[in-house]
Amino acid sequence: MSEGSQYTGITSPRSFCTLRPYYPVKSKERIPVPVPSLGKKPLTKIGFQIFVPEIDVTDDRTWFWRYGIDLPEIFVPLWQVLANEETLRKTSSEGLHDFLGFNGRIFLSMVMPDELIDKLSLEDYFRLINDLRPDATMIPDNYTYVDDPLFLSWSQTVKLVSLANDFLKLDVPLIGLVKGANPLQIDWAIRKQVEMGYVSFAMPARELFEDNLLEDLLPGAIMSLQWVSKKTKTSFELLIYGVGHRLKHKDINGYSNLSWFLEAKHGFYYKNGWSYDLRDPEIRFEECNCEVCKGLMPQEIIDIMLSDRELGLKTLILHNLLDMKRALAGGR
Ligand SMILES: [Zn+2]
Repeated sequence: MSEGSQYTGITSPRSFCTLRPYYPVKSKERIPVPVPSLGKKPLTKIGFQIFVPEIDVTDDRTWFWRYGIDLPEIFVPLWQVLANEETLRKTSSEGLHDFLGFNGRIFLSMVMPDELIDKLSLEDYFRLINDLRPDATMIPDNYTYVDDPLFLSWSQTVKLVSLANDFLKLDVPLIGLVKGANPLQIDWAIRKQVEMGYVSFAMPARELFEDNLLEDLLPGAIMSLQWVSKKTKTSFELLIYGVGHRLKHKDINGYSNLSWFLEAKHGFYYKNGWSYDLRDPEIRFEECNCEVCKGLMPQEIIDIMLSDRELGLKTLILHNLLDMKRALAGGR
């Protein structure tokens, strides 16, 4: 007979351990990560324009249609609707179309700050979409960081797919999301959404672009879409969300951003998709023939700003919008 103490190794799935579902050996302690059983629904492509401006629902200077600029579709970020109680109340009772006075198509963007993501339940999303009445909606965003431990981004990726499945119940056209902390997660999320019938995708790209990570993930995402397209004999569309520059990839069908407005607020002027300080000698005395400037030079926009700041700013905002549209459509 031998005496001793019994120890349980650190790899045993103890009840207090948050990694339990990921424990590689099956035991009664381990509750595997639930992968939802997925439904299927025939969805049709949204048919994105090459440039779908994002607007700020709380700032009517971005409501370009009120100034005679005619672009057929916009993205409205849900988080802005939620950020302001008055806006939420009005948009919920009138619907986005009436509130904005916009006749084109309105797509609801779910790209939002992380702290808001966890506050919304499925019922919240459904109620908001029902009240706001957009023409299409993204599925809910998640947070995946490339430098997180993998189990965190995998559980977020599973959650994304699970919500994509729940959203099939909605009677609104849907936009899937290209998300994940690495190519494997992105590929898996794309395939699962395709299994459910998703054909239009948006890739939230602003943070990846700013951190210089977009090129690590975008080529793989495009390859996954191409591969699944070949396999299922279905064509897909991909919109890059949150980036103001045309990227050197074929198979990008659209871009959406608010850069045209944000840059104007900081006095930046777009020319051929590049932004310049209004006073930059390279562009300062060059006439622009867009339908807003009608021959104005940046110097004259500065002059207008000096006598009527809001009018000058409005000119700059709308000029930037038109320049971005032209630059993104370049070569088409
Ligand atoms: Zn112009």
